[in-house]
Amino acid sequence: MYPNQLENLIFALQRLPGVGAKTAERYAFTILDWDAEKRKDLIASLNGIDQIQHCEICGNLSSGKICSICENHNRNQNIICVVSYPKDIVAIENMQSYEGVYHVLNGLINTSKGILPDMLNINALLKRINEETEEVILAVDPTIEGETTALYLEKLLQGHVKVSKLAHGIPVGGHLDYADARTLAKAFEGRSSNEK
Ligand SMILES: [Zn+2]
Repeated sequence: MYPNQLENLIFALQRLPGVGAKTAERYAFTILDWDAEKRKDLIASLNGIDQIQHCEICGNLSSGKICSICENHNRNQNIICVVSYPKDIVAIENMQSYEGVYHVLNGLINTSKGILPDMLNINALLKRINEETEEVILAVDPTIEGETTALYLEKLLQGHVKVSKLAHGIPVGGHLDYADARTLAKAFEGRSSNEK
């Protein structure tokens, strides 16, 4: 039996994906061996997580009410790129060529898992779209869930705004955040649209 504090740490670490009892124990002992400074960094970064919230406008992760992209008026607020998760924004930002803003659905429609459109950040998207909106780019993974979600949004937005979809290039079943910047940039350039 280890001291309670250590048992608690092992138990908490086991909640991480792919971490079993043995690995959790190894991690806990590693942390135990760290010097005070290193441990303080870990504690501070874990405490900092509490301040992370979803941007009120786009749903991206943010340390304030509005994320840095929505706050940046050098970006074209009238071009909205719809992605499924915040990590996709990181992939698209890595291209260094997209100047519009984003909208994060925070999920994809998956009826077999019970994830329905009303559970996604779609209402906020509808509220954002107005006469000044030039284009909505659907940049979701080319998976079944991604295609289902894109189709749903296309139908929903048809007649209201120009909707475009990324060109192929990202392998079917692949994920945006694994695509390299060049592939992603090509998919953006070659996007096809339905005029409103
Ligand atoms: Zn935002």
